[in-house]
Amino acid sequence: MDPAAQAILIRADMLGIETAFTRAEQMVPCNIGSGKSGMCCKNCFMGPCRITKDGQTGICGATLETIAARNLARAIASGAAAHSDHGRDLAFTLEAVARGEAPGYAIRDVAKLWDVAARVDIPTEGRTTNDVALDVARKALGEFGQQRGELTYLKSAPKKRYELWKKLDLSPRGIDREIVDTMHRTHIGDDQDPVHILKGAIRTAIGDGWGGSMWATDISDILFGTPSPKVSQVNLGVLKTDEVNILVHGHEPTLSEMIVAAVQDPELIDYAKSKGAAGICLAGICCTANEVMMRQGIPSAGNFLH
Ligand code: SF4
Repeated sequence: MDPAAQAILIRADMLGIETAFTRAEQMVPCNIGSGKSGMCCKNCFMGPCRITKDGQTGICGATLETIAARNLARAIASGAAAHSDHGRDLAFTLEAVARGEAPGYAIRDVAKLWDVAARVDIPTEGRTTNDVALDVARKALGEFGQQRGELTYLKSAPKKRYELWKKLDLSPRGIDREIVDTMHRTHIGDDQDPVHILKGAIRTAIGDGWGGSMWATDISDILFGTPSPKVSQVNLGVLKTDEVNILVHGHEPTLSEMIVAAVQDPELIDYAKSKGAAGICLAGICCTANEVMMRQGIPSAGNFLH
């Protein structure tokens, strides 16, 4: 572990302040559900059902394999929802920028906008940046609610991979569509076939990786600039004892990019100085730290554990 993080964790311990590590030490692990000692299902209120013996099933008849597949599928649907929804928010921001309704935001990487437009068959010739951006934003938003067909970005995958997805019926129809489908089929009384459940989970994961998350990356590049190698600093040592320290956190870059701009505002710096600070120190935590570091070179103070 990073020495600066170690020092602060030891100090927190001396002061009796809880951390994720002390909580983990105190946490009594659930005695089932680890995969070694059985499986637990809480998908309906006839349960929780605890499957600890060979051949045992849940009250609804779900086997150990079905419960394991359902639990994994639901975790995938939840993760896909969290990351893809981030992409949706960025598409809304791009739409607002294109309409002139998002003061402070701009299209910083026009070349990337043109590249994305070409990949999703949006014409660019003779059109304004805002017109193309509006179409790209609407295309992205349409991919979330699409009910049939397949996601447009799938064709960006290597041909062999794309054809394998088609052959195995793993091509996601729409980003939200697959998340809902997984939540539906893992509900009590629906899909009991673990292989079939896992195929739905894979479609959902591809819908995130080649849909929501990929749109999030591409639109972030369009709005905030495509990352390039930068020199920066990492760990709690980036905090300053004589400045106002602000840490940006969370996985949505829409707000943090504005905070990066705000801390450079001379009026705010003067205000901090008027209160006795030497200035404003901005750093990031976790995935937002990664966002603002790779695009703006802002230092990272660490992650959510330390
Ligand atoms: S879905 Fe089936 S296995 Fe799960 S809690 Fe309900 S009855 Fe039990």
